[in-house]
Amino acid sequence: MTLFIDGQIGEGGGQVLRTSLSLAAITGKDFFIDSIRGKRKKPGLQRQHLACVKAAAAACGASCEGDTLHSQRLAFRPGKIKAGNYFFDIGSAGSCCLVLQTVLPILFHAGSSSSVVVCGGTHNPMAPTADFLIKSFLPAISRFGFHATLNLARHGFYPAGGGRIVARVNPVKSLPRKLEIMERGNLVAKKGKILLSKLPKHIAERETKSLTRRGWFSPEEVETITVTDSQGAGNVVSVILDYEKITCLFQAIGEKGKKAEKVASEAHEAALFHHKTKTPVEKYLADQLLIYLALVSEGSVLTSNVSLHSETNMMIIEKFLPVTFRTARTSGGWHITCSRA
Ligand code: AMP
Repeated sequence: MTLFIDGQIGEGGGQVLRTSLSLAAITGKDFFIDSIRGKRKKPGLQRQHLACVKAAAAACGASCEGDTLHSQRLAFRPGKIKAGNYFFDIGSAGSCCLVLQTVLPILFHAGSSSSVVVCGGTHNPMAPTADFLIKSFLPAISRFGFHATLNLARHGFYPAGGGRIVARVNPVKSLPRKLEIMERGNLVAKKGKILLSKLPKHIAERETKSLTRRGWFSPEEVETITVTDSQGAGNVVSVILDYEKITCLFQAIGEKGKKAEKVASEAHEAALFHHKTKTPVEKYLADQLLIYLALVSEGSVLTSNVSLHSETNMMIIEKFLPVTFRTARTSGGWHITCSRA
């Protein structure tokens, strides 16, 4: 039976498609999606989403209809998941990290290890950066039994792109019976990391000043990295909070016309907000962990916020897997619980 997915459901963006691709490959269920990214200004498959479709199809030998640029409908019939050495070129500055987000869960279910090279953007707005995946996401899913490493071989900033990430994905051997991320422990270190590529030095200097001005960061805690390997200009501010039990990363991307002080304060404010909530999982990591929670099938996470993204992801996951999600607001934050249906 083919599952029907409404691409406009919930938040109506690329996540609906990506989660469907990953879970179709893992469960072997065919699906048909229409109104792809129906709530976005430019709906349909943009290069990045098409790369996700091609990557998922390659990883599980799927046959597709509608896998063309700007298509708003797609039929996806998965085959068998295969380990391999994969190379995916997005052909634009679209996010490599979101392509990886799609294929990782699939390749964790292959018979042996895979390597995945993705070319495109590595530090994009509205997507996890390579640093986010390396420092926060991958260590978090390794607690669930999913082990992969990621090497940022070349930075790629929007709009020039040209970045490259190389991932090594190990198949899952055994999954924990239950997964919980309910505590974070004490804050053991905090860092500001500024990436600057082909832009004047004063941008990083003003961002450092902005991070240190309010007294939360000392100048020694802020590092500037001058990026020399990228094709185009770029600026990213990351705030990394290392708690005893989890690392959280908050990122802001510089853009033409956006003041350096604003870039720094976006990352800073998001980190401060999260720190005050005392919860272990921030809202972006929360939506990215849901599929793994469901693959383990039982567990709970405590997060600062259940975003529309998370709600949408839960709806899609419940269509493919026999699990039920529940959310509950408590004085300590939001509990997201997943159990067998
Ligand atoms: P979509 O907008 O549907 O294409 O999905 C965007 C994805 O990027 C989601 O998995 C978000 O969690 C992730 N994302 C967006 N902004 C950030 C951010 N600032 N930090 C980490 N991940 C992000």
